Amino acid sequence: MLRRSLLLSTSPAAFALAGLSASAATKLPVVASFSILADMVRQIGGDSVAVTSLVPVDGDAHEYQPKPSDLRALKAAKLVVLNGLGLEGWIERLIQSSGYTGPVIVASAGVTARRLDAHGTAQTDPHAWQDLTNGAIYTRNIADGLIAADPADATMLRARADDYIGRIGQADAWTKAAIESIPAASRRILTSHDAFGYFGARYGVEFRGVQGIDTTAEPSAREIAALVRQIRADDIRAVFVENMTNPKLAQAVARETGAVVGPAVYSDALSPPGGPADTYLGMFRHNVPLFVHAMRAN
Ligand SMILES: [Zn+2]
Repeated sequence: MLRRSLLLSTSPAAFALAGLSASAATKLPVVASFSILADMVRQIGGDSVAVTSLVPVDGDAHEYQPKPSDLRALKAAKLVVLNGLGLEGWIERLIQSSGYTGPVIVASAGVTARRLDAHGTAQTDPHAWQDLTNGAIYTRNIADGLIAADPADATMLRARADDYIGRIGQADAWTKAAIESIPAASRRILTSHDAFGYFGARYGVEFRGVQGIDTTAEPSAREIAALVRQIRADDIRAVFVENMTNPKLAQAVARETGAVVGPAVYSDALSPPGGPADTYLGMFRHNVPLFVHAMRAN
């Protein structure tokens, strides 16, 4: 009789007595600022987390207009994960107006930040996830945050994080080998915004951005003309546009230089589920062969 009444009860203590962990019944509600971090949280947390991404798939994390549903998600959250390095300029005010006062994990904490010159001013480059060794740092930070919020699942979360770091390491080695198949002098790519600085530094590719460091600043006619001259002088044939940016600029530059714009690559946002880059590691599996193929034409 006693056991039956406990099983019918829904209190966490009753679940523990019945041999079920609390997390089997209730997933930890986590809010991530954008889709790449949301995927990392899912990879590490598995069934123990329910993740909401504020910026949706194919969305631009530099510029975001929060929705009423974002406030509701934050109000219900037990953990918030953001990139930091100045990517989400819009998030602090959003968190404040939601009333959320719980832990905030800065996934990029501990990475070596790159500086970039954007339209004459030095800025921190936020795209640290494009170096897979940084992806491992992100994973440790997110795992620490999940474990602090859900200590009962610490063993499982640590094992899943270790497994994910292993898969990130394999993707890093694969990416390195693929890029090294291209002669160093040919490793030049033009993209629609400067999202691949960390990728370029890690894997030895020189990226030029049409749009500068973020997607908010429109380049001037003079900057575009200078870029066109530079591309002609350097004979860059590999031009790519990211899924979340306006393709017009890169297409105009490609037209004037005779370069060919390749298929969309993914930098700041994943594709919808089932699309070509619906996970962080899937993004590399999609982008790297496209980069390699295009650089062969340089
Ligand atoms: Zn970006």
